[in-house]
Order: sequence, then structure tokens, then C-alpha cells
Amino acid sequence: MLNKLQYVMDMVEKRNPNEPEFLQAVEEVLESLEVVATKNPEFLDAGIFERIVEPERQIFFRVPWVDDNGKVQVNRGFRIQFNSAIGPYKGGLRFHPSVNASIIKFLGFEQIFKNALTTLPMGGGKGGCDFDPKGKSDAEVMRFCQSFMSELNRHIGQFTDVPAGDIGVGAREIGFMYGQYKKIRNESVGVLTGKGLQYGGSLARTEATGYGLCYLTEAMLNDHGSSFAGKTVVVSGSGNVAIYATQKATEMGAKVVALSDSAGYIYDENGINLDVVKDIKEVRRARIKEYVDAVPTATYTEGCAGIWNIPCDVAMPCATQNELNEEAAKTLVKNGVKAITEGANMPCTPEAVSIIQANNVLYVPGKASNAGGVAVSGLEMSQNSLRLSWTFEDVDARLKAIMEEIYANISTTAKEYGLEGDYVAGANIAGFLKVARAMLAQGVI
Ligand code: NDP
Repeated sequence: MLNKLQYVMDMVEKRNPNEPEFLQAVEEVLESLEVVATKNPEFLDAGIFERIVEPERQIFFRVPWVDDNGKVQVNRGFRIQFNSAIGPYKGGLRFHPSVNASIIKFLGFEQIFKNALTTLPMGGGKGGCDFDPKGKSDAEVMRFCQSFMSELNRHIGQFTDVPAGDIGVGAREIGFMYGQYKKIRNESVGVLTGKGLQYGGSLARTEATGYGLCYLTEAMLNDHGSSFAGKTVVVSGSGNVAIYATQKATEMGAKVVALSDSAGYIYDENGINLDVVKDIKEVRRARIKEYVDAVPTATYTEGCAGIWNIPCDVAMPCATQNELNEEAAKTLVKNGVKAITEGANMPCTPEAVSIIQANNVLYVPGKASNAGGVAVSGLEMSQNSLRLSWTFEDVDARLKAIMEEIYANISTTAKEYGLEGDYVAGANIAGFLKVARAMLAQGVI
């Protein structure tokens, strides 16, 4: 319940009607910050709370392109430059038909705190487009990406705003956008992360979010006298985050038994064969249901929400926002789930989070547990500035250290504010304090 910060929430609701995801993300953070408003009145005096919920800049733009039939298509592009108190705006680009201002603003808002938690100097931003890469030819995707960057290039830069990938934006899309940026601006700089290894990308960026999720989860399990070894795990999604979370959890001794896409889920009691999944998703860009063609002992069920009915010790939602609702949370609890860590951004609804926390299930929100992707993006920026490439082992070791540090930070912060074990509060408060102190130091801007 909000008390001291209700006036901030009222203002956000008035200014941003019809933006449910953004309001959901802000309310969740403000609820955690009530204790900060009490303990640190200097932030109230300086108007930090009302400033941090208002993006510094919002850019909406037309993205016209020509499809393979010669027909003109028009999409809407977004870049939300939310907060630059601790560094250049940093956050991914999402290409998905559901993209709108509410979704990009919720993601940009969460990104502020996530980036602060990585300990690297990166502000928060997010962008994207309501373009659907699914079913498009490579040539169409290229023409779209070029048009998107023809406008975006004037708003970003290596010291200003450094976008990366997200849903629907992988190595192919980053390559096309980077090429267009270079052509227009005539400069080879690290303006995007997630680049190909041949032109400034970092080793381990592809794996970073999924691996980082598992490093943090393992650190938390260890802290509670447990580990991944011997655990049954359910991972939703089958994209970048899900694939590499599955890989690392398996390496750590767990058995991942399920994956999904937006149409349905697969269950393989012997443990997911990731070579099959990578061939379907990364090579052929096909549907997860084809898994059962290669592994006939596995089953496929239509409808992605049913994946949470599968009993597991650890659940890692890695698909999209609000994919795990109250009903799903109750089922997971009934089936004895021990830990839920988020690979996706805001995959659990507020009602689901209440159920999870009320039943003492270990739970870490995405802004802490999926920070590995942006952390390695930050390391990609460092390598670009140094004009050097670090080895996979070096980047992976830094990623592991960062994720363990994030867990220690959110755990200690929760304790300091009298909320031991509440990692939602720990993440929100720790992320907020770093940004708020920087804002305080820089005056009212
Ligand atoms: P991908 O595009 O690689 O994969 C997304 C996966 O989620 C696909 O399996 C997709 O299925 C599924 N999905 C997408 N939208 C929906 C939907 N509306 N309902 C059900 N399933 C859906 O994206 P990523 O793996 O990169 O991203 C997944 C999540 O992780 C997102 O929340 C993203 O913001 C977050 N994240 C990603 C980071 C990264 O480094 N990539 C970093 C931090 C967070 P289908 O193919 O059927 O659409």
C-alpha cells in the first residue's frame, strides 16, 4: 500500500492513462520505496521520486518500408530515454506486434534500476517497434531495420544512448541496424551492443542473460543451503534467454523438462535436448512444437500458459511480461516449487508475486535476475572503447562475479531496510539508491 508516495502514483496515473504495464511497473517500485521515503527524506525534498518516474525524453517515429510485393508498410518506432543520471541511456530494442508506449515505458523504467544494479555506469532506456519479424524475408527485415535506423541514428550515440536487442531483435537485426548507422554517420563506434564478433561484438553476449540468470539463481540457492544440482526446472519461452538459461542450468546439474513459445509448450521428462531446440529456433526460426518430431518421447501441448502446471523445483519464466498469473502461481506452489527467478521482464503479475511471496518461495524479479544481458552489453562497450576483445572465459567470469554481487547487494539491502528475504524490495531499493544519489548530486535537471 502506498502512503508517503501515493501523490507520485496519482501523478503518474493522471499523466499516463491507458498504459497498464507502465503503471504496474511504477507501482511495484514505489511500494518498495515507501521505506526509503521514510528513512531518506532528502529524496522527497529534492523531488527525486516525481522526477524518476518521468522519462527525460520520449521519441515516437514513423518507420516506412517496402515489402517484397512492392507494397508500402508503415510501423511506429519508439525510443524512451528514461534516465541518464549514472551514464548513457542503455536498453534493448523490441520488435513485436504488441509494442506500444506503455510496454516500452515499463521496460525503460525497469531498466534504470537494473542497470544501476550491474555496478556499471549505464542509464536506463528502451525502444522498439510494432513490427513483427516473424514470417518476413531477410530482405524485408533488412529494409525495415534500415528505415528504423534512418530515424533512430539522430537520437543515439556511443556517449548518449546505446541500444541492444530484446524480443525479436537478435544478431541479424543488430547487424542491419549497425550497418545503416555506420553508413549514415560515417563512424565505426560501439553505438549498439549485441554486435557480431567480426565487428565489435563481445564473446558471451549471446549467452549472457540466460547464464547470468542461472549464476544469480545458484548464488541464492547456495545462500539457502541448496543448489541447482538434481533439481527439476521449467523454463518458459524458447528464445535467446530461455535457450541459454536451459544450457547453464543443465551444466549446473539441473534437469530442464519444459520450454514454450507463444503457441504452446513441450515437455521432455528426460531433460531438454538443446541441440534440437537450437536447430529449430536459431537455425530454422521454426516453432517449438517441431521438437516432438525429433524427440518422439516428448509431448507438445497447445497454449503456452499450461507450462506452469508441470511440477518443478525451480521455475524460470523467460518469455514475456505477465505470462505467469495468480492461477499459475498457486499451481506452482501446490506442486512444491522452491524458487522462481525471472529471465523475462515482469513475467509475474502482481497477484502472482503476492502468492509467491506469501508462500515463502524464493523469488527474484527480472530487474536483478536478468541483468546479465545488459551487464555484458556494458562490457561490450568497455571493449569497444579499449579497442580490445576479451576472451569468452574472461567475460563469463566477469558476468558471474557481477551476478553474485547483485545477489549479495539485493540481499543485504533488503536486510538493512528490515525486509530480509524480500528480494523485490532489495532490488528496487538498491537500484534506486544509486540513481537517486547521482540525481541528488547533479541538481534539479
Ligand atoms: P526472443 O525473441 O529471443 O524470444 C522470446 C520468446 O518468448 C519466444 O519463445 C517467444 O515465442 C516468446 N514470446 C514472446 N512474446 C510472447 C507472448 N506475448 N506470449 C508468449 N510467449 C511469447 O526474446 P528474448 O529471449 O531476448 O527475450 C525474452 C524476455 O527476456 C523478454 O521479456 C525480454 O525483455 C527479456 N530480456 C531479454 C534480454 C536479452 O538479452 N535478450 C535481457 C534481459 C531481459 P514466439 O516465438 O512464439 O513469439
